[in-house]
Amino acid sequence: TEVRVAMTAEKATPAARPRIIAVASGKGGVGKSTVSTNLAVALARAGHKVGMVDADIYGPSQARLLGTEGLKPTAREKTLIPVQSPYGVPVLSIAHLVDAGQAIAWRGAMAGNALGQMLDGDWSGVDVLIVDLPPGTGDIQLTMLQRYKPDGAVIVSTPQDLALIDATRAIGLFDKGGVPVIGMVENMAGYACPHCGEVSDPFGHGGAEETAKSGSHAFLGRIPLDISIRRDSDAGTPPAAGDGPQAQAFAQIAAHVSA
Ligand code: ADP
Repeated sequence: TEVRVAMTAEKATPAARPRIIAVASGKGGVGKSTVSTNLAVALARAGHKVGMVDADIYGPSQARLLGTEGLKPTAREKTLIPVQSPYGVPVLSIAHLVDAGQAIAWRGAMAGNALGQMLDGDWSGVDVLIVDLPPGTGDIQLTMLQRYKPDGAVIVSTPQDLALIDATRAIGLFDKGGVPVIGMVENMAGYACPHCGEVSDPFGHGGAEETAKSGSHAFLGRIPLDISIRRDSDAGTPPAAGDGPQAQAFAQIAAHVSA
């Protein structure tokens, strides 16, 4: 009995798991990583304790996007200690572990292990973990559902039909896995011509909002196609950390997500 009591006592104090919010998309290139970064930064600015796991193993962007390129995480025992970004968001990405430009030719099991190492990192002090998923509905998504079930999912899409069809598949995966879909973000919505100011819609308009509504999901907001977003993201200075109109837009999305 004594041993049992000791074991129970040990088990009674597990490290508190942060709330996991997965950011997903159907297609690649729709701005899922960009939205992940800026959502994390906006949540941190609103006072939440936020961490970031880059689960896009084969196309990791978060080291660059959070201005942490070249930094290496340390480890205590076998637990990875996240890299500190200048924006108050600790982060782990494969890009912190593998040399830049090196091909990541891993089979599913190895990618799953890498994902596990990052999610089992030292996230003490973090309340919300944003997980930037790869596009689509593959191995990594299934590993998340089985082993690290997200508490909610944010779906990013452009307003374009093709992207929305795939976004709907991603939503279907979370529905099936019992993960609440927090809502949809429409990215690359509307482009203001830098010369004449006329707004055009290269990828259409309003499609993500319609898709969200038709599935009874919340619409979290829209982000325009804007060269400053691409430029600031590439420079590792997320627009959400600045004081322009994009920071405002991401703050509003963050408010919906944390509501
Ligand atoms: P995904 O994660 O869906 O593959 P990314 O976030 O990597 O997409 O974005 C793809 C490219 O588009 C990047 O170069 C990024 O800077 C750019 N981008 C994303 N959203 C916007 C936007 N709203 N305006 C301008 N460029 C954007």
